[in-house]
Amino acid sequence: MRTISTKEAVANGRYAMNYKHPHGHVFYRKMNHARPKISHGKGIYLFDENGKKYMDGSGGPLVVNVGHGRSEVVDAITQQAQKAAYVHAIMFTNQATEQLSEELAELVPIPNPRFFYLSSGSEVVEGAIKLARQIQQARGEASRDITTCRSLSYHGMTLGALGVSGRPGLRTPYMGMMVNMPHIRPPYPYRFAATGEELAGRLEESILAYGPETVAAFIAEPISGASLGAVLPPDDYWPAVRRVCDKYGVLLIADEVLVGMGRTGKWWGIDHWQVQPDILVTSKGLAGGYFPLGFVAAKTDDVELIRQKLGDWNHGGTFSHHPVGCAAALATLHIMKAENLVENSARMGEKLGQMLQDSLSHHPNVGEVRGRGLFWGVEIVQDKINKTPFPASQHLAWDIWQRAFNKGLIVYFSQGCADGQNGDVIMLGPPLIINESQLVVMVRILTEAIYEVLAEKTIS
Ligand code: PLP
Repeated sequence: MRTISTKEAVANGRYAMNYKHPHGHVFYRKMNHARPKISHGKGIYLFDENGKKYMDGSGGPLVVNVGHGRSEVVDAITQQAQKAAYVHAIMFTNQATEQLSEELAELVPIPNPRFFYLSSGSEVVEGAIKLARQIQQARGEASRDITTCRSLSYHGMTLGALGVSGRPGLRTPYMGMMVNMPHIRPPYPYRFAATGEELAGRLEESILAYGPETVAAFIAEPISGASLGAVLPPDDYWPAVRRVCDKYGVLLIADEVLVGMGRTGKWWGIDHWQVQPDILVTSKGLAGGYFPLGFVAAKTDDVELIRQKLGDWNHGGTFSHHPVGCAAALATLHIMKAENLVENSARMGEKLGQMLQDSLSHHPNVGEVRGRGLFWGVEIVQDKINKTPFPASQHLAWDIWQRAFNKGLIVYFSQGCADGQNGDVIMLGPPLIINESQLVVMVRILTEAIYEVLAEKTIS
């Protein structure tokens, strides 16, 4: 078989079976797929080693909030690393972690919060479900160890986080190893008409089926992210969920890993409904991609209760409360505030939504354009009337992603939104610094990619 070059393989995308991987001793998740080597990034753009320019229309998986190449963040990281790169959180505290927490306390929808820092979204989700369990223990509710969750959701790759996730494709090989938690139906107005009260009723049914004395928490994404692609719940959903949780003493965990930190035009996804969770987690945009960092936020009263009743929180990690990570997050936060990026997310997000509707919603295979702030999803269907998805074997979302990539636009995508296997959604989540003329280019390239790939699919 002829061996093809990286350039040819990148153009061929997933069909690059005869590509000889140049990654030396590295292996990646997608194994039959060639990737160019990155050179550098600036603003909303990335450049590979051949000088090709990419508009970062999704910040990878919704990470790059303040753009690439921000010297303010780099300087903060350097300064902290020079002062003290690492200290163990059991032995020391540090100024960056303390100050970041002071500033975040003004922003999270939990009054008088406390913050615990870890290194990824999966880790903070693990932390949150364990913290909820220990809060229940400290309250004298030791039989509560179930975390109720939702299908078609994503909370991370570790076994605990996967146990509360609803992505069959990711879970299947590990089913025997996971603690599988009860999954209820998520809001998905495009495919399932239900009021928020009705959906919250499913939560109540599940709690009653297992017994309220066994349920510690309910975890959900305030706006569905990586699995469904920017699906908003009905307006009465979150208030109704809060009422059900309160009624049965179940703690509400808001997973803001993807939609937090201004992504949807407010600091937190759940702020759109002014509901207070008991525990809130975030990661991705917190340090804007400059450092792997996330936090678990909880009420001081609950943390104090654990201290009084249990002594310690039985959890931790070598890299918790990392000083360099917290310095990176603090610098990122200062840029967000100084440049009013949450407001920009709301303003640009309205324009982006309108542009996507105008250029895509009349396409015969575009089922729905949805989103809020600078997080939008375009769901592609085979048949608009019956909302039939393309079969997963057609890899439609992947092909659209690849086509946009080849044209110099990075988008994010997911497969399985319709039923866990089938259903294609393309997502946009650019850096929050994006301006209107850049949005125009982004939507033009995505539109071209969608039109071209669908023309080929529907002809063949
Ligand atoms: N929670 C949500 C809502 C996510 O979207 C993700 C990742 O996409 C995670 C948790 C896991 O985060 P990470 O990939 O950083 O482990």
